[in-house]
Formats: sequence, structure tokens, C-alpha cells
Amino acid sequence: MIGPVRPSTGALSPLGVDQARLTGGFWAERQERNGTATIPHAHEWIERTGWLDNFRLAAAGELAPHRRRGREFSDSEIYKLAEAMAWEIGRGGDAPLDDLSMVVAAAQEPGGYLNTMFGRPGQRPRYSDLVWGHELYCYGHLIQAGVARLRTGFEDALTATAIRAADHVCAEFGAAGRQFLCGHPEIEMALVELYRATGTTRYLDQARLFIDRRGQATLPDIELGRAYFQDDIPIRERAAFAGHAVRALYLACGAVDLAVETGDDKLLAAVVRQWERTVAARTYLTGGMGSRHEGEAFGDDFELPTDRAYVETCAGVASVMLSWRLLLATGEPRFADLAERTLYNVVAASTSLDGRAFFYTNTLHQRVAGTPMDPSKPWPRASSSERAPWRDVSCCPTNVARMLASLGGYVATADSDGVQVHQYASAKVRAGETGLSIETGYPWRGDVTVRVTATSDRPWRLSLRVPGWAGEATLVTPQGTERVRSGYAGATRTWRIGDQVRLELPVGPRWTAPDQRIDAVRDCVAVERGPLVYCAESVDQDPAVPLDAVAADRSAPVVERPLPALGPDAVALDVPAAQLAVSANGWPYGSPGGSEPEASTLTLVPYHLWANRGPATMRVWLPQSRG
Ligand SMILES: [Zn+2]
Repeated sequence: MIGPVRPSTGALSPLGVDQARLTGGFWAERQERNGTATIPHAHEWIERTGWLDNFRLAAAGELAPHRRRGREFSDSEIYKLAEAMAWEIGRGGDAPLDDLSMVVAAAQEPGGYLNTMFGRPGQRPRYSDLVWGHELYCYGHLIQAGVARLRTGFEDALTATAIRAADHVCAEFGAAGRQFLCGHPEIEMALVELYRATGTTRYLDQARLFIDRRGQATLPDIELGRAYFQDDIPIRERAAFAGHAVRALYLACGAVDLAVETGDDKLLAAVVRQWERTVAARTYLTGGMGSRHEGEAFGDDFELPTDRAYVETCAGVASVMLSWRLLLATGEPRFADLAERTLYNVVAASTSLDGRAFFYTNTLHQRVAGTPMDPSKPWPRASSSERAPWRDVSCCPTNVARMLASLGGYVATADSDGVQVHQYASAKVRAGETGLSIETGYPWRGDVTVRVTATSDRPWRLSLRVPGWAGEATLVTPQGTERVRSGYAGATRTWRIGDQVRLELPVGPRWTAPDQRIDAVRDCVAVERGPLVYCAESVDQDPAVPLDAVAADRSAPVVERPLPALGPDAVALDVPAAQLAVSANGWPYGSPGGSEPEASTLTLVPYHLWANRGPATMRVWLPQSRG
């Protein structure tokens, strides 16, 4: 079996979802809950909303426009759920994918066309609205579901449907076909992955056509500008990711896939350059991307408002997908660093502790506590003060589900020298003749123990990532103990079964300051602990300490304590604080200075756990006390 993304070349080779299994701790718990709660929950909602019935009606020839339910892209949620189920089955779980696949397959039309929104009597004609209709976007998700099924060892109705759809796209949009593209990138990476899974080169050629067509002002100029769908500048010439964040990141994923398969080093370098600039100036502390509610878009450099942060969950998932591709292509740890930050502070934050409610936007500052969410009703908006059970636009839950189900595939890689561990979780890893057993209480504790469970009799290198946030760590190998710096550390030797390596990462709390060009948080501080960003949530505070008038005092130590309400291993932090003087005369401006701070304590909790205890206000960044 093979996991998500299988480049035919690159610095590192991925392992399959059955080669790297999560066995316990933070991510294993979430992966398990994904299989037992989130996937069934999403299945229930695509039935309840009628989105799956659209396929049944289409197959029966009864899908009149007034009977169709959901937005124009709702088909894609069925496909993303199918992909999640495929990975879940691949890792040894259980999911009713066969039933779902049969419903999807029955709705496909002769010639391979498949979309419940277009082409029937009374509906708009096929491909009459490529700008907003999402037909190719939906195919992309169908194809990715088919690839997940192929990679986990099956050829069935779903894989046949995906291949027929891809063949249809190549015939319809090939060099001699419609010279157009979809308003929402997605299909590009799906086609390259299908090429990798089948060896059929026309899928790769079609991906190249779509990537080269974008940026040529093919799509119309709209209120948000062509940057919204990345049709303003060719990706090869862009300086930073811009426009709709999910579209930009999906396109970048497709571009990396294409570059790797065609040996296009200039294209790969262009995406790396854009990633660098975006990380340097357009990314939140959480790893979240997308600063603007308007257009769900990246902002300008250093435009990173906290209370208006958009940070769509899907952009977090897409960013991890992109970082993973860049890591495989280059072997550079910075990509694994960002993936880690985003997994813990966007992907994990998006989902409630019971796995049945989801954030769409992931704000860094909630000013108003809001009202409790009704678990029986879909929420009509992207923004919400609590996680919602489902949304009219519900792209995020199924996106998280497919990532968590395949997460084992992101833990480790192999190359000709040995094995590299990138993300820390208790896991069993098998790469060729090499077997590893990893035990850790990460991210709560910093010790990671890796034991060799199988090995060849030739020397090989075991590499462990020392995260960028750590700066330094201690590495204990059979050859001795050493201080190691951020990057990859390890040992090369003729390993014996039972040999152990221990990495000790400094996960204690630390203060973090922003680049002063980020106006929204200038002079503020945040607290991180290991890979986790912390926040102040109102439910933990003295009611006399409102979160909009409190400052952190960095002169006194931060105190750790258990947080049993949010998990057996969870850690809360108590931070000395001072209350800020506030205006009292009905006008929120006046002479500078003159405040009289009152000492207090602020309790911080891991950001990914906030909003699990009822409506609350919350902030990540804190002003600093001058007292
Ligand atoms: Zn989404």
C-alpha cells in the first residue's frame, strides 16, 4: 500500500499508510475518533442534506432542478468522504465505502461525465459555467478518492468511475478541446496523482495544460479580481501566494507534482520561492493561511489581523499537503516544521473533542462569546464562535477526515541512506528491511524513543527532525549523547534489533514575539509550548479579568499545571498578568500613558482545545504589561 502523494523521484520516498501506523497518543486518538465519529457524522450529514440523494436521483433519471439539494460543489463532499473512507480502510479501519461508491458510479453518464448540478433537462448545460460551477474541481476530488482506493490495493466501482471521469476530462479539455480551466484549482494535483497511480501519461499532460493555462486572464475579471482564482499571473512568475487561499494552495500542490514528474526545476523553485515569502509574511503563528474574509484570501505582506483572521480549515489542510510535497521533493526540514505547526494548531483546532463539530474559519481572537450551536442544524456561515456540526458550505470536515485517515503516511520517509522521522507520534514504522517502534507523549512531553525492531546487516542512517521551534535538543544514541540543532539529527551505524535512540525536545513554555511589521500584534506576545500555540480563553479566567483589557507580565515565570478538563495529558499555563486601564469617558482615545495596572493571573490553554467548553471569548496575542 502507498500513502497520499507518490512522486516518482525526489529527495525522500513516502511510506504507505500500512507502513507507518499510529499506535497511541495525540494523533492516534484523533485518527481513531475520525474513523468512529467524524466519518460516520459526515456520512449522516450528506444523507440528511440530500447531497447523496442527488446522485440517486441522477441515476434514476429523476434529478429535476427543483429536486437537487446543496450548493454547486456539494458533489465534492461525497468524494472527499469517499477518499477519507478509502484511507480509513487502508489503515485497517472500517467504513461503508462500497455502498457510497455504487451510488456515485450509478450516476456517471456515458462518456464519463459526472456532476449532479449540470446537463439534465432544466439544468444549465455541461461546462456552461466553468468559472463558478466547480465541475472540474469536483472531478479532482473524485479522482483523488479513486487514487486513494488504488493506492490501498483496490480496483472497484470507485476507481473505474474516477478513471472514466479523468479520460472524459482529457478528451473534453485536451490540447484540441475546450481551451478553458476551472475557477477552482484542484484537478491539477489529482491528475498527476492518477498518472502516478496508473502510468497513463495523458493525465500528466492534461495537468500541465491546466497549470499553463492559468494566469493568462482566461477567466473573467471579477469584483475580487482575477487573483481570486490565480488567473492574474502565471504561477511560474508569482512572488507569493495570493487570492483565495485554498485555490492558491491546491494549485501550488499541482504545480509541485507536475514539476517533480517532469523534472521542471524552475517550476519547483518558483513554488518554493512563493512558499518562502508566504511563510515569511502571510502566515499566522498557528500556521494558518488566509487573512481576509473578503474572497477567503491571502492578504498583503504582514496583513495578519487576529480578530478578522480567516484561516480556513481547508487552507490548513492544503498547506500541509503542499509542505509534504515540498519536503518529499527537497528533504528540507522547514517544510516538516510548517506541517507540524499547522497540524497541531489549525487541523487539530478545527475539530471538536467529540469529532462531530468543526470550525471553518480559525480566528486568533474571539471578541464575543456568541451563542451555543444547535447540533441538529447546519450553520449558514463560515464564521462562528463555536464549531458547527455541518455547514451549507461544508468543505472542511471531509477535508480534515481524509487527512487524519491518511496521517500515518506523513510520519516518516525513506531514502537510499536510511529512514527519516518527521512528525512525532507513537507509531510503528516499516521501510523495506527496517522496522522502528516510536514511543512518545509528544506534544505534551518532549521525549521521543525510537527502537529498532528490524534491520538489515548493512549500515544505514536514522534521522530525526529537531523542530525549528526547539533550537537545540539532546540526542542519545548507542554511540553517545550529543547536543543537536534544529534540522535533522541522527546516527549512521550497523543497527541491531533492540537498539534505541532517544530525542529530548525542550517542550517547556516560551514567549513569542511577532515581526513588528505585523501591525495587528505589534508589541504583543504569545506563549507557545513545544509545537502548540496557547491562548487565553474566558472560561478559565477570573470574571474580573476581561480578555480585552489584560496584559501579560513577562518578568515573572510561567507556571505549568494539568488541565484534566481537556484531556488526561493536557497542560495549562498560568501567566502573571496586569489589567489595562480603559477609557471611562465615552471616547476610547485620550492622552498616552497614565494607566494603573492591577496584578492578576491569566490562564492559557492550548489553542487547538479552545471552544470545547461552551461559548467563550479567546485571544492568542496579549499586550505586554509595562508595570
Ligand atoms: Zn473548507
